[in-house]
Amino acid sequence: MNNTTLKTLLLCAGIACSPAVLAAATLIHDVRVFDGKAVHERRSVLFENGVIVDADFRGAAPAGSRVVEGAGRTLLPGLIDAHTHAFAFQELPVLFGVTTQIDMFTDIGMMKTAKDEMAQGRRHDHADLFSAGTLATVPNGHGTQFGIAIPTITKPEQAQAFVDARIAEGSDFIKIVMETGYGFKSLDLPTAKALIEAAHRRGKLAVVHIGNEKDARAMLEAGADGLVHLFPAASADAEGLARLAASRGAFVIPTFTVLESMAGWRGDDLLADPALAALLGKEAQAPLKARFGTSARPDRLAAPKAVTAALVKAGVPVLAGTDAGNPGTQYGVSMHRELAALVDAGLTPTQALAAATSVPAQAFRLGQRGRIDRGYKADLLLVEGNPAADILATRRIVEVWKDGESANGLREQQREQVAQAAREAQAAKPLALPPDGRISQFSEAHLASPFGMGWGPSTDGFVGGKSTVALKAGPALADGQVPLAIAATVAPGLPFAWAGVAFMPGAQPMQAVDLSAAKSVRFRVRGDGKTYQLIALSAGGRIPGAQSFKAGPEWAELTVPLSGLKDVDPAALTMLGFNAGPQPGDYRFEIADVRLLAQ
Ligand SMILES: [Zn+2]
Repeated sequence: MNNTTLKTLLLCAGIACSPAVLAAATLIHDVRVFDGKAVHERRSVLFENGVIVDADFRGAAPAGSRVVEGAGRTLLPGLIDAHTHAFAFQELPVLFGVTTQIDMFTDIGMMKTAKDEMAQGRRHDHADLFSAGTLATVPNGHGTQFGIAIPTITKPEQAQAFVDARIAEGSDFIKIVMETGYGFKSLDLPTAKALIEAAHRRGKLAVVHIGNEKDARAMLEAGADGLVHLFPAASADAEGLARLAASRGAFVIPTFTVLESMAGWRGDDLLADPALAALLGKEAQAPLKARFGTSARPDRLAAPKAVTAALVKAGVPVLAGTDAGNPGTQYGVSMHRELAALVDAGLTPTQALAAATSVPAQAFRLGQRGRIDRGYKADLLLVEGNPAADILATRRIVEVWKDGESANGLREQQREQVAQAAREAQAAKPLALPPDGRISQFSEAHLASPFGMGWGPSTDGFVGGKSTVALKAGPALADGQVPLAIAATVAPGLPFAWAGVAFMPGAQPMQAVDLSAAKSVRFRVRGDGKTYQLIALSAGGRIPGAQSFKAGPEWAELTVPLSGLKDVDPAALTMLGFNAGPQPGDYRFEIADVRLLAQ
């Protein structure tokens, strides 16, 4: 076999055999290597054309190769985030060394684009994606609340057709949702079991979202290949659960990053690390600053920690996954928190590194990735120091390679863009409020405002809801102020249904405006006695901060401090709103004299 044939074989073994760009060889010289399972104190690794050619290279560097000195550094396989929802910020994972994402539910158009790019060998800039595509849930079940219309399932007899349709769409595995919390409807046990069997009949993995210990046990007994979360409540029997998972050969993805968000608490602040923060613009930072939980309850992490420790002891594969896409997480960067959290939970640093490389590659049958060995994909992460001794060293990134291509150009470009945006933001002055602070300049003809796009109807229609609203101004009150009557009909169907009126302060829809001069919103209201919400959203936020109020029969003046609205940054405000919902029904209320006040 000549050398070219060998290279071609290696190329075809590792990835879909495709006309990959032929990159020059790179030699990482005299470096500590974590190969996905074990640490080798001093090795040299040679890769070419996107594939590792020699994981223990001896001798002189091949002519024309690039040599990277490895002294004091550690080379790792590119990280695999085993639980993401990869619908946004696609540029981020690779910048932070995450070269593969295992997606637990995304838009199938997004999934198809990623798969096309992977097949054509032109996805060097973005992490590879393996995806469940659309998850399996019931009508009004967890997974239906995101505004993407998705097929649902209610009966065991539908399972095979449902699974076959997902496979036809391109799903790599089947994700099943068992979640009875937060007011969601859930699949029943026979249907979930039928889905697992239907997936196995087609040679696909079936993994399950569970929200409590009872469902975790039931799904493991039903033959689930993996649990993609742990539950935040106390565990009755961590050892028993671990023994069950071990006996079934199942794996578990604890997702501490999102459990910490639900606990309203985080073990450490990624944004406090300047090298990480320098790659995250304001919009990318916003999800990291957000939390699911409203108050800090670190005690809620005791159970998932105990279960994780028991899983490790029982020999159950534990996988590092962040649930990125949710408040409190961010793609790529959050993996560095997840790794530290796994170590807090009792994994050794080496076990944690394996949980982010070889273990998910094996559990999800991802082929030649997650290891540093001959013929494996040249997805690599070079860091300063020794993460096998100090897990925080994964954050000291020197260079990332995806398909053998260095991401240092992308990292530099991103750093420059973030710095430039920060300089521009610093130069921009906060918007001066009108002297009286009034943003409602209503007349019977116009819903005018002193700045921005101003006032308009707002409903859940753009996320697939069917709620409606009618706005009508006038007649003027005794003091000359013209009130706005809001007649809303909130339709059933969405857990977060709404209809109302929104004020956009920017010149473009959802453009962020620096309203840091405003400390509170004051307005007058009356109505049918029902409860309404004042909401606000800032740049990068997906879930508005809200304060509820009652609209009684007499006019009342209310003041809401902006600091009381969760995750809202007045320096980057995109929207203010007055909404009816989420309970279905007819609503009638009026607002008048809305002001942004400097105190
Ligand atoms: Zn998830």
